Amino acid sequence: MSMVYHCVGCDTVTLQPLSAFKPNPSPSNPDQEKSYLPPAPPVGEFCTHCNQRHRLGGPIWSAPIHDEEFVEDVMKYVEKSMNVLGTARRIEGLLAVVRGELPAPLYCTLDCMWPDSGRT
Ligand SMILES: [Zn+2]
Repeated sequence: MSMVYHCVGCDTVTLQPLSAFKPNPSPSNPDQEKSYLPPAPPVGEFCTHCNQRHRLGGPIWSAPIHDEEFVEDVMKYVEKSMNVLGTARRIEGLLAVVRGELPAPLYCTLDCMWPDSGRT
């Protein structure tokens, strides 16, 4: 989970994770993970690109939304089981949509990239 700092001038997005993990904090216990609060905020009061202010939003899910390897494995299983699964075509379509989605948590529409798009 992350909070989002969104620049009102250039739409730059900066994520502020709500927690992070230290890898292997103890050599005597290599399986142990230790979480900590990352330093905040990740941005200054004004955007470094356009000198406008930020808006704060969130929290949002900021990790990958799919496990691509898992989706591929399920697709292979469904392809092999077409005669057994009554909803195989439907599952296949759903997995194709899932595979086509971007793994990134946020996106920008094309019309926001042109300065005369009516945005203020
Ligand atoms: Zn900016």
